[in-house]
Amino acid sequence: PTFDAIGLKEDLLRGIYAYNFEKPSAIQQRAIVPITRGRDVIAQAQSGTGKTATFSISVLQTIDTTLRETQALILSPTRELATQIQSVVLALGDYMNVQCHACIGGTNVGEDIRRLENGVHVVSGTPGRVFDMIRRRALRTRNIKMLVLDEADELLNMGFKEQIYDIYRYLPPSTQVVLLSATLPHDVLTMTQNFMTDPIRILV
Ligand code: AMP
Repeated sequence: PTFDAIGLKEDLLRGIYAYNFEKPSAIQQRAIVPITRGRDVIAQAQSGTGKTATFSISVLQTIDTTLRETQALILSPTRELATQIQSVVLALGDYMNVQCHACIGGTNVGEDIRRLENGVHVVSGTPGRVFDMIRRRALRTRNIKMLVLDEADELLNMGFKEQIYDIYRYLPPSTQVVLLSATLPHDVLTMTQNFMTDPIRILV
C-alpha cells in the first residue's frame, strides 16, 4: 500500500513525500479513502498512530484552494494541539497554496478577525475562540464541508460540549464529520449519534 494508490492530488502527494512519509500508517490506510469519498468516520486511535496526518491529508484532498473560503474546521482540546495541527496541514500542503489559520484563545482577537476575513481554507482551533469567531461572523461557515473533532474524549473532558454543539448548529446540514478519540465513552457516542450519518468505525 502506497500513498500513490490512494488517489491523492499530485500537489498533495508531493507535500507528503517532501515531509518524508514513505507509506501510509495503518490508520491512514484504512481511513483516508472512506473520508475522501465523503463518509463520516469514527476512528478510535491514540496519538502516535499517524492520526493527525490522516485527517490533515483528508482535509487537503477535500478542499478547493481556488475558493478562498473556510472549507474545513478542525477542533482540538488545547492551543498547543491546534497549533501543531496547523503546522502539519501547512507542511503537507506546502505545494498547494493552502491557507490554514490557528484560531485559539490567548491570541489577539483583532488579528484573528483580520486573518479570517481575508479568507482561509482550513481553520484549526479550540472551541471557545472558534465559536466566538463564528458569532462575530468573522468565520463564515457557509462553505464548510468537513468538521474534524480531534481527541473528542478530551474535548468533552475539558468541558467543551456546549461550545461544540453551538458550533455544529452553524454548519451546513450536509457537513461531513470525522471524529477521532482514544476512548469512546457515552457522551462521545451521543455526539456521534447527533452529528454523524451512518459512520464507519475504525479501531487501530
Ligand atoms: P500522531 O499520531 O498524529 O500523533 O503522529 C505520530 C507521529 O507519526 C508524528 O511524528 C508523525 O509525523 C508521524 N507519522 C504520521 N504518519 C506517518 C507516515 N505515514 N510515515 C511516517 N511517519 C508518520
